[in-house]
Amino acid sequence: MPDNCVFCRIVAGELPAKIIYQDDQVVAFRDTNPQAPVHILVIPREHIAGPLDFTDGLAGLAGQLIVAAGHVARQEGIAGDGYRLVLNQGRQGGQSVFHVHLHVLGGRRMTWPPG
Ligand code: 5GP
Ligand code: ZN
Repeated sequence: MPDNCVFCRIVAGELPAKIIYQDDQVVAFRDTNPQAPVHILVIPREHIAGPLDFTDGLAGLAGQLIVAAGHVARQEGIAGDGYRLVLNQGRQGGQSVFHVHLHVLGGRRMTWPPG
């Protein structure tokens, strides 16, 4: 685990988080600065810096983030109305935590284009 990775520390149980789903590959927890009524982050347990670091060998794990987001959406009651999945890559993409995370946003109407 890289030092000072807040999401690795959440996975390790060293930092508190409102975990709402987890399995052997991923953990999902509420964002501390929610941008929608439902705002959950789905992360791999393994430290992967960003979407760009998903190599061919990690394609299955990348897919598990989306599968887990579906579990989360059903659990949170937003599956029927719909929700948005966001993966930010790098500074210009809006990434601020460099442990890859899939945002699950719902509970309100999303706009397009995104900011
Ligand atoms: P990014 O900007 O990298 O795509 O998204 C990072 C997200 O992580 C932000 O929405 C931010 O609010 C959230 N975040 C940052 N630090 C923490 C933390 O310690 N705990 C939780 N639950 N969310 C965090
Ligand atoms: Zn990490």
